[in-house]
Amino acid sequence: MRRISAHRVFTPNGFLERGVVSVGDDGEILGIEVFDSLDSQAGVEFYSGTLIPGLVNAHCHLELSHLRGLIPSEVGFEGFVAAMKSAPRTGGAKAAGFWNDKMWAEGVQAVADICNGTSTFELKKISSVCYHSFREVFGFSATIPADTYNITPHSLYSLTPEMFSASILHSSFFTLHFRESEYEVENPAETLVERVPKDKKVMLVHNCLITQRDIDIIMEHFVAPPTWVVCARSNRYISGLRPPIELLRKNHLDIAIGTDSLASNEVLSMAAEMAEFADIPTEEVLSWATINGARALGLDHTLGSIEVGRRPGLAILSGGNIKRIL
Ligand SMILES: [Zn+2]
Repeated sequence: MRRISAHRVFTPNGFLERGVVSVGDDGEILGIEVFDSLDSQAGVEFYSGTLIPGLVNAHCHLELSHLRGLIPSEVGFEGFVAAMKSAPRTGGAKAAGFWNDKMWAEGVQAVADICNGTSTFELKKISSVCYHSFREVFGFSATIPADTYNITPHSLYSLTPEMFSASILHSSFFTLHFRESEYEVENPAETLVERVPKDKKVMLVHNCLITQRDIDIIMEHFVAPPTWVVCARSNRYISGLRPPIELLRKNHLDIAIGTDSLASNEVLSMAAEMAEFADIPTEEVLSWATINGARALGLDHTLGSIEVGRRPGLAILSGGNIKRIL
């Protein structure tokens, strides 16, 4: 058993000072205690910074990791799509392995990962990171992949209505690139609620151009409130847009954070994504980066929070950097 402490511990009840977290050999949290003074506590590992649960990257395309630096930035969404069309799709296994290891070292516990191919599947099988792979259906000539991964449509605009419906037929849960740019279907929120039955669970990714009206239409429709994933660095890289975070907050929506891929980001770093929201209380941003992502993926019974009985992994947030300690 390890006993771990830091300047403060991030828990579902807020920050604890002088908190000591006891962890079993299998990573299970066995106890959380608060002491008047840590000086008298023998055998406690003390870290400088904030002790946090492992992070959940709520939107990534690991298989695109070999595209780092190959796609020009700030060329707008149309320019990005054009560059992606001529980009090499193969040769990704090595880069994916490197970034998988880096995400793990930087405290990432789980990833919602979009895949067009199967090149990362072997890596993910042996990875310590828990991946939820969404097999993406993309393009007007798309077909539904025959493997058993969670099928997900790319977006409303990149599939025919028939193909969109076919892609969500057997998925009770899926993700969608939504309101990322102005190049989308007309009336995206209406189209979304028209095409997606209300009992499906959805992660809406990007949301840059979302309006109050969109939010009202969508929240009214779905039985389970969607998770609204923001990828601020990717948006800046592609189009200079920014997710309307204050609008999402004002509506008390379930926000989660993703890195998107290295085709539109320099790093797959949850710390860098969190730094985009430096003016928002750290506690709130941390819950977007941990429990909200875990809940979206149905992993919150084990991951996303420092609570007795869970096995969230542990990391230290210090000076804007995050380092895994367990
Ligand atoms: Zn994406």
